[in-house]
Parts: sequence; C-alpha cells; structure tokens
Amino acid sequence: MSLVTDLVCVCCGRVSADAPLRCTCEACGPARGILDVRYDMAAARKTMTWEALADRPLNHWRYRELLPLDDCPDWPVGWSPIVEAPRLAGELGVRRLRLKDEGRNGTASFKDRASSVGVARALAAGATTIACASTGNAATSLAGYAAVAGLPAVIFVPRTAPAPKIAQLLIYGATVFRVQDSYAAAYDLCSQACDSFGWYNRNCAINPYLVEGKKTAGLEIAEQCRDDPPDWVAVSVGDGCTIAGIGKGLEQMRELGLIGWRTRLLGVQAAGMAPVAKAFHGEACEVNALPGTLADSINVAVPRNLDKAVRAVRASGGRYIEVSDQAILAAMRDTGRLAGLFAEPAAATAVAGVRCAVRHGIIAPDASVLAMITGNGLKDIDAASRAAGAPVDIPPRLEEVRRYCEQ
Ligand SMILES: [Zn+2]
Repeated sequence: MSLVTDLVCVCCGRVSADAPLRCTCEACGPARGILDVRYDMAAARKTMTWEALADRPLNHWRYRELLPLDDCPDWPVGWSPIVEAPRLAGELGVRRLRLKDEGRNGTASFKDRASSVGVARALAAGATTIACASTGNAATSLAGYAAVAGLPAVIFVPRTAPAPKIAQLLIYGATVFRVQDSYAAAYDLCSQACDSFGWYNRNCAINPYLVEGKKTAGLEIAEQCRDDPPDWVAVSVGDGCTIAGIGKGLEQMRELGLIGWRTRLLGVQAAGMAPVAKAFHGEACEVNALPGTLADSINVAVPRNLDKAVRAVRASGGRYIEVSDQAILAAMRDTGRLAGLFAEPAAATAVAGVRCAVRHGIIAPDASVLAMITGNGLKDIDAASRAAGAPVDIPPRLEEVRRYCEQ
C-alpha cells in the first residue's frame, strides 16, 4: 500500500483525499490550485532506512515509501550517475563540480522520472489512454514508458518542438498532434481533450503525482552525496516542476533523518524566458513580450508551478539567475569539451548558471556544486550544431592535415 495520506493545495491550504484522477484543488481551479502530495512520514521512517536501501535495486523505485503507488513497477528509471568534472569546475571558477547525468535515463532525459510514475498511476487507475502536452522530453518519456506498459499515448507538441524529439515520439508509437501554435496553446488543447475523451492527463504541472517522480532526483542526490554534500544544486527551470520536486526530495530525506544537511538551490532560467526568476525577484513580467530561448525544454512563458518553484528555492536559501542563449551555447561546448558530456541546451543552462553565479559572487569560488544535466544533447542537434560549429573540410591528403595542424 502507498503511504500517501492526502493532498494539500499550495494556494489555499485545503486538504483533499488521494483519488486516481484528482489533479487540482476544487476551490482554486486548475490555474492556481496546484496540489502537493503528503505521506505518512512516521511510517516511512520505520522502513526507509540506510540499511534497507542498501539491499534495494538501483532505480528510483527504491524509494517506494515516498512514491504515490501501491505497487511499484521494475522499469529501469533513475539512479543516474554523478560524475566529477574537475576541468569544467576550473573553467567555471568553482572548487568542485559534479554533474548528475540524467541523459542516461531510458529515453535520455530527466523526465523519465515523472513519466514512469505517471504511466504507473494511469495503469493503476484503469486508464485506457494517456495524454500530455510537452515541449519535448516529457512527451518522449511518456511515449517510451507507455510503450513499455502497453498503454496508448497521445501527445500534443507546439509548433517549435525539435524534429529529433518528434521522431522519438513516433518511434515509440505515440499519436502526435503538432499544434500550430505555442506551448500554452498545446497545453490547453490537451486539457480540453482529456476532459472530453476521459484520457489520463499526464501534464506535470497539474498532475500532482508526477512531481513525486521528479522528487526522486532529490532523494538520490541526498543518498549519493550522503557524506559529501554539495553547497549548491544548480537546476534549469521552465515549468518549475523539476526544481520544486528536487527541493521536496531533499527536504523529505531530512525529515526522515537520513541526512542532516541542507543544500542551496540555484534556479537558472534563460534570459529570454525567465518568468520564474522575475517572480522570485519581485519584478514585473509581461508574458507576451518575452522573446523566448533556444533551450526549448525551458521555453515556457506560463509556468504552471511558479509558486512551488519560487518557494523551493527560497526555502533552500538559494537564488534565481538568468543566462543568455549565447552563454547556454558556450556551456554546451564547455560541458562537452571539458567533461565529456553531451548536454541539451536546457541541461547546459544549469552549467551556464553556475558560471554566471560565480561571476556575480552568488556562488563562492571555494564552493562544491552539483549541476543537473537534465537531457542528452542528441535531443536537439540543431542547437548542438550552433554551439559546436562546423568540421574541417579537407581533401583526402596527408599534407592538408599537416597544414591544418601547423596553423
Ligand atoms: Zn486551493
């Protein structure tokens, strides 16, 4: 049995019962009434001990006490490696940098954590079709895990979704609607379709159970860095759901007494699309005037989890920061060149944020930082090509190679 006790509205505080299709607070509505899932932490404390965890499989289902499922599947998700990146640390100006490589999840992004929980919940609720609106990674991971589970998937993508992500969706057998408009329009159309056709709505922002999947990254950071905590965890921010989930995971590990430390969250947004950072700093934000960013995974003008995302960072004692698209492209190059890791633009945004935070004196040079690499760079080869430049075209003659090398 799951240890979920109830759900609480982050807007009005109203408590409601755990129900298969509950998504938002009835009093506050879908725009503001984001729900947070609560657990019987006293019961969790009894069984989720370091000793018990030592014997469990290395995937995110190992934290079953803190997942909203009666029975967890055994699909391979999570427990992504944390790699040391000393050369990149030197380039960014920090003492130590670790990268949590979420690109090694099954469909090559962080979103597998949420989607796997979403698909498992949908199966438990008796759903016959699962749907979502996504700028890409949430959709591809949903399609991938729906395929594993044998559940039909319907995906609404905005006009700007990159071709590789769409190809990935189609390969997993999903029905793909490419909405000739923005992400917000795709999102609204998906919600209408779910209401009309009774599809299970995976949309992370309003489906409170999916944040629970994202939370496992925070649980893992706590476990993997148990005796050696980072001072900062840097996360790129779009809808706000990822950073809120990581913050919740870290807090729950403290609540269970498994860790005694806190780490600060650095929320990083692209300067062309930074409504959460602006809200954090109390600045006005005219949504229609935002120019957008090449980092499509975080190109979100109307973040549905804005309140949770602001609160998580504030509660950690952290900060929000904005970085330019040029800084994101530079971070893609540096992460590849100096750490051997191919990050998609939204993932490199976290690295760009670390560099910017050091320059502004927010992160001290002697700090230890962990950056979330939320997706693999093969997801968006157009952006990668912009970051990386062109190869050297030469005729097949050795002297041409020599001439180039001597330049
Ligand atoms: Zn409410």
